[in-house]
Amino acid sequence: MTHATGLSPFTKACRICTVLLGSITVASLAGCHGPSTAPPALGPATHPATAAATQPALSRFEFVQPKMGTVFRIVLYAPNANLADRAADDAFARVDALNGMLSDYDPKSEISQLSAMTDDGPMPAPVPVSDDLWRVLERSMEAARLSDGAFDVTIGPFVRLWRRSRDMHELPTPERLAIARQSVGWRHVRLDPEHHTVQLLARKMRLDVGGIAKGYTAEQVMQVLRKQGIDRALVGAAGDIAAGEPPPGHATWRVGIQSLEKPDEVAAYVRLRNRGVSTSGDTYRVIELNGTRYSHIIDPKTGLGMTSRIGVTVIAPDTFTSDWLATAVSVMGEEKGMALIEQMPGCAARIVTIDAEGHRHVQESHTFADFADADK
Ligand code: AMP
Ligand code: MG
Repeated sequence: MTHATGLSPFTKACRICTVLLGSITVASLAGCHGPSTAPPALGPATHPATAAATQPALSRFEFVQPKMGTVFRIVLYAPNANLADRAADDAFARVDALNGMLSDYDPKSEISQLSAMTDDGPMPAPVPVSDDLWRVLERSMEAARLSDGAFDVTIGPFVRLWRRSRDMHELPTPERLAIARQSVGWRHVRLDPEHHTVQLLARKMRLDVGGIAKGYTAEQVMQVLRKQGIDRALVGAAGDIAAGEPPPGHATWRVGIQSLEKPDEVAAYVRLRNRGVSTSGDTYRVIELNGTRYSHIIDPKTGLGMTSRIGVTVIAPDTFTSDWLATAVSVMGEEKGMALIEQMPGCAARIVTIDAEGHRHVQESHTFADFADADK
């Protein structure tokens, strides 16, 4: 995660009907603050409208802020602007707090300080961590186990080499890769579930939770909103989107999936309610060296950015899950990745690959069609 620079300041952007969110486009409702009428894009209202008569009228509010090196977007329905503003303020404060714990760009963040404790060698003793960092690391280790090491938050030293390659326009030497490799490996992380402590067992380790933190954060934002009584909301952080209860009069949120080849186009739409959706792949953050594209997603086996062209969209019961899964499946590839998705409860995926001849191949898990929008 980075600290965003040069992005627009806080805005309550009310007139956006199609919202670009990094690798996902959210096609949401047009209009704001007005009555929540059904836009044509969402099709006929299928949600039972009977309860609406007894509830206060809800208006649509949208908030956008640069956070965590990307743009956080919150669309919510609330009875009035005061409540909406308060909820959004609390939500963005929570994002800032989480950034302060989870950002590997900020040397003062909790995770950076934890990593820095290995500068002179493995940690001699376990270290207690915050509840948030604990939850993210615990889930990251589960993700590493389930993905057979494809998802690995200890890849920080390889990510640094990737960033160096981006700046210097050269691949890391085998020597540099070998040195970095000594500090990488999820088995070097020891967690104690009883005491919520972490012990890092190699030297110069650098934890990087960029593949799971936005999903966790989006989910946490949802919880903040729910505490304020707001459950009809959509939270987007680049390719990670948490969809809560749908807009009034609608059965679902309609979310567009960005095309792998043409990032400005929507390849498909999905309809979601109380679900998370994440898209990972090599569309935006890639470097090109000697005619080869290296994605910002690292293959822990090689230490280099992935070179295969792949775009993965995962739908899961929550964004915490969809985020790591989309990153993991990008590394695992079509076959093994889809096998993992099929064994994860409540999860579905769409994987697009482009082979060496430029042929596009789309594969969907068994239940993906349940979410797909028939209009596209
Ligand atoms: P996402 O956009 O969610 O797929 O996350 C990409 C980010 O995850 C990268 O920018 C890295 O910070 C991190 N990352 C890269 N490769 C891996 C990997 N193999 N396992 C876990 N995290 C990774
Ligand atoms: Mg991810």
